[in-house]
Amino acid sequence: MAGRRFRFAPSPNGRLHLGHAYSALFTRREARRHDGLFTLRIEDIDTFRCKQEFVDGIFEDLAWLGLNWPEPVRRQSRHLHEYISFIDRLERLRLLYPCFCTRARLHALDGPKDPDGAPVYPGFCRLMTKWERQRRMVAGEPYALRLDMAKAIVAGGDNLAFREEGIGPAGETGLVPCNPKAWGDVVLARKDIGTSYHIAVVHDDALEGISHVTRGQDLFHATSIHRLLQSILELPQPVYIHHRLIPDETGRKLSKSAGDRSLASLREAGVSAEEIRRELGFDGA
Ligand code: GLU
Repeated sequence: MAGRRFRFAPSPNGRLHLGHAYSALFTRREARRHDGLFTLRIEDIDTFRCKQEFVDGIFEDLAWLGLNWPEPVRRQSRHLHEYISFIDRLERLRLLYPCFCTRARLHALDGPKDPDGAPVYPGFCRLMTKWERQRRMVAGEPYALRLDMAKAIVAGGDNLAFREEGIGPAGETGLVPCNPKAWGDVVLARKDIGTSYHIAVVHDDALEGISHVTRGQDLFHATSIHRLLQSILELPQPVYIHHRLIPDETGRKLSKSAGDRSLASLREAGVSAEEIRRELGFDGA
């Protein structure tokens, strides 16, 4: 059906490996199956970790795998102001608060864990008085902006769900109820870059008219946050197709030189793109 858009959205903070190859080929197969368009997006908001050489590597590796995509390719680092405008909207709705907690303090937290296994933020800075907040901001203390999850759920709805056409880590499929509460007050604007993955991905999926989000199961639980943001910011909701993660053995099987499983190193070791496609189960795809 015309108008269906899919995206592969890697972050250029290292060379692509087999897991990326699987995700990219999976995305193309789904795009073809739905008569849709495969697109590429470079998710490089983390200007500290992302590097141009890795962006070049992405183009090289994907072309080698036999993929092609429409140009120009969106690079998130060139659109930071657009993400900040979403942060501004959430601030105007009074759904964000500044968090001055240091990394050390956050690491020392003990207590309930979020779906990624990190401690849920107990809300220290949410409970801060207005005056204390202002004093620290005026003093120039760096801060992140966190979503006040309880308020956000009131604003966005407490019975949200998303459509899963793939499969979650515990076999979830169909209409999946959201559980954004499990994440607590997530950071939506990092101290260093003023935005976050959650904001940028929700923004771009809407802007680019992505109808189907294909990605690994490691991001399945984050979908609850994305769906909540889509509801608050009145954005369209795509269908989600989460896929399995590629276990190590595939890499070992293919690797002619032990250790590095990057596509570049496999290529240098003489592995062909066809062998990779076959090993990952994308024979004729
Ligand atoms: N940029 C993310 C990654 O490389 C993928 C984000 C997504 O597909 O939603 O893991």
